[in-house]
Amino acid sequence: MRPRSKRWAEALRQFPGGVNSPVRAFKAVGGEPVFMERGLGAYLYDTDGREYVDLCLSWGAIILGHADAQVGSALQTQAARGTSFGTVTTAETDLAIEIRRHYPSIEKIRFTSSGTEAVMGALRLARGHTGRDRVVKFEGCYHGHADSLLVKAGSGLATFGSPDSAGIPGALAELTTVLPYNDAEALRGYFSEHGRRTAAVILEPVCGNMGVVPPRPGFLETLRRLCTAAGTVLIFDEVMTGFRVALGGAQALYGVRPDLTTLGKIIGGGLPVGAFGGRAEIMDRLSPSGPVYQAGTLSGNPMSMAAGSSVLRRLTPERYRKLENDCAVFAARLSEAFRAARVPVSLQRVGAMFTVFFSDRPVHDWRGVSGTDKARYSRYFKRLLKRGVYLPPSAFEACFLSTLHGPAEADHVAGAVREGGF
Ligand SMILES: *Cc1c(COP(=O)(O)O)cnc(C)c1O
Repeated sequence: MRPRSKRWAEALRQFPGGVNSPVRAFKAVGGEPVFMERGLGAYLYDTDGREYVDLCLSWGAIILGHADAQVGSALQTQAARGTSFGTVTTAETDLAIEIRRHYPSIEKIRFTSSGTEAVMGALRLARGHTGRDRVVKFEGCYHGHADSLLVKAGSGLATFGSPDSAGIPGALAELTTVLPYNDAEALRGYFSEHGRRTAAVILEPVCGNMGVVPPRPGFLETLRRLCTAAGTVLIFDEVMTGFRVALGGAQALYGVRPDLTTLGKIIGGGLPVGAFGGRAEIMDRLSPSGPVYQAGTLSGNPMSMAAGSSVLRRLTPERYRKLENDCAVFAARLSEAFRAARVPVSLQRVGAMFTVFFSDRPVHDWRGVSGTDKARYSRYFKRLLKRGVYLPPSAFEACFLSTLHGPAEADHVAGAVREGGF
């Protein structure tokens, strides 16, 4: 095995910034990233054999814990039969049925290999369906790295987008309008002027990518009403929240029905996956039944389908009732520990995802989130890492829990928090 000091230096020689996805580099918290070697249940083990309670869970893709035996055997069975054929398979239909059982808004679905691709497909479809170009997103929401949506824009109300990344044509970014999350007034203002020229509004119905920020009462309903009136396609990006905040996702939890939904993460059982689906009338505009092109060599590949089905088959309403209970207990223990350490926090949780904001009041939007104490988060992150807790390496991310995070793990994390020093 490589000596500890060499691993990161070698990775830095191979990959830009040492990584294959930016946030893994620990830039936001400082220090060198930990190389993980294996996972089991609620735990990760690094290359030195150190154990961590995992609160990152592959960014939410894992819900039944690491190295689940049934997922493992489903993958072995499929691997023995071949990993990809580039043809139709019944494995795709099986997983589609499992998903649609819990998402009645999804009348037809298409699988992709990542959440980003699912969002790209949904966006093109919405534009093709409406014949309009303009789209709306919300400040602080992340929808993968598609050009049109890597736009966050500054403060103010309806700011016309300027890209967050180099390499995005200004002409494309201009078609994206960014509005503040949870601001129904800004929405109404935008729609009164531009609604009928807008192809789609996309949002995380519970925002997870600025840390967990739930929708204010009425926000999703207002959005639904405005989109219906303007003929604008409403896209719920449930790549993170699907099978995470509830069995039926945020749309079931809040009772608001989108036109299109994007999924990913949990539905692949830890393998690469994405999906988008919704009203049949819209979905049937996809090639080959319609004029909107979208494709993928490994879309719906049998390995991801097998892992996904193995997980989804075991996700029942009873299981989510227990998960909700366990997560509530976990969050309560954590809150107590912060009180004991005299650190003011806003712990914001929906289902099996939560964020501890270092703030003395709840946050509802990007402005609130960016006012929280980031330096304190870095100290907290490092403290907990030392004590065997793996948090997401950024203050603006969600923590995740699995069905295997029980009282023992809650005690461990709470114990580490109670020691304070951050
Ligand atoms: C993770 C995520 C994506 C992107 O999915 P990838 O599989 O990383 O491409 C899109 N939207 C949301 C809400 C996500 O959390």
